[in-house]
Amino acid sequence: MQTTQRTMKAFKRIALVAHDHRKQDLLDWSNQHKEKLEKHQLFATGTTGSLLAKKGFKIKSLLSGPMGGDQQLGALIAEGEVDLLIFFWDPLNAVPHDPDVKALLRLAAVWNIPVATNQATADFILNSTLLESEYDSSVPDYLGYLKQRTDEQ
Ligand code: PGA
Repeated sequence: MQTTQRTMKAFKRIALVAHDHRKQDLLDWSNQHKEKLEKHQLFATGTTGSLLAKKGFKIKSLLSGPMGGDQQLGALIAEGEVDLLIFFWDPLNAVPHDPDVKALLRLAAVWNIPVATNQATADFILNSTLLESEYDSSVPDYLGYLKQRTDEQ
């Protein structure tokens, strides 16, 4: 796959998601980093977002994860509308929407966005100097990909 450059702005669009057994951890972590997080645009899956909104975060909540929220987030990533994913994933319990979780993580890998699936990685991302600066990332050259596929016909 050919790639092209996409510039992430200093103002990031950050998605926050937590599985049920990790929600309190994400709430605590978000509170701890509130000042930094609030400088950026925040998205979340439905329940996670509602809990964060109750704590005073300005956040755009999508549908709840099992009802399609993970898929909505995946679509936003594919469309270049989300720059970072902080996903407090539960590695010890099965969830009914496991295929959606896998699809979300797959799209985050395809579109080369930073993803934290645990608190330590989330800490590293939040403390990176790149959080507050522009960043040129390498992403799939979608137009080139489409041209190649249509020229083959
Ligand atoms: P929720 O979804 O924030 O609506 O609980 C999270 C998830 O399980 O993907």
